[in-house]
Amino acid sequence: MDENERVQNARKEMEQLVADSLKSYKPPVGAFFTNLKEATKAIADGSIRWARKNSLWPMQFGLACCAMELMDFGSSRIDAERKGYLLFRGTPRQCDVMIVAGWVTKSVVPEIKRLYEQMSKPRYVIAYGECAVSGGPWWESYNIIQGIDQVLPVDVYVAGCPPKPENLFEALMKLQEKVGGKVEDKQE
Ligand code: SF4
Repeated sequence: MDENERVQNARKEMEQLVADSLKSYKPPVGAFFTNLKEATKAIADGSIRWARKNSLWPMQFGLACCAMELMDFGSSRIDAERKGYLLFRGTPRQCDVMIVAGWVTKSVVPEIKRLYEQMSKPRYVIAYGECAVSGGPWWESYNIIQGIDQVLPVDVYVAGCPPKPENLFEALMKLQEKVGGKVEDKQE
């Protein structure tokens, strides 16, 4: 048997194997619709992520001097509106981003928690400035907690005392990456 015949035989053998295995194969009922459902779900998930990513609504809320920087964030110098970040809302029910700007006293913790609980899900937290990150200059104080992450899950930290408004701009872009699925999401 020459080389050509051997190849022909091998091909026939393979074709027979495929034909035999297809004889016993029964396609599952509704397979097309199952795939369609999964495809629709994947498309919907992607669209929802895209919409969330491009419509972050921060809460109008400040605790101490970092809130001044937060106000500067809204000024013409930073021009945060070009990214659509200026929809600060006056009620937590219309917000999904809490920017903690300033030191957090133990007495105000229950109020911050309540505001967070009232925000719509999924919700995100940015610790803006040294006080919100770690307690800042008062990290050893008897009445100030050493960072908002002791009571809430923080997504992005912004360093500085005072922190630059430009860095808040970057923090929101990082949050967008997270909401858009580029970074692993936290578990609430
Ligand atoms: S980090 Fe600095 S600027 Fe911000 S609240 Fe604390 S002391 Fe004030």
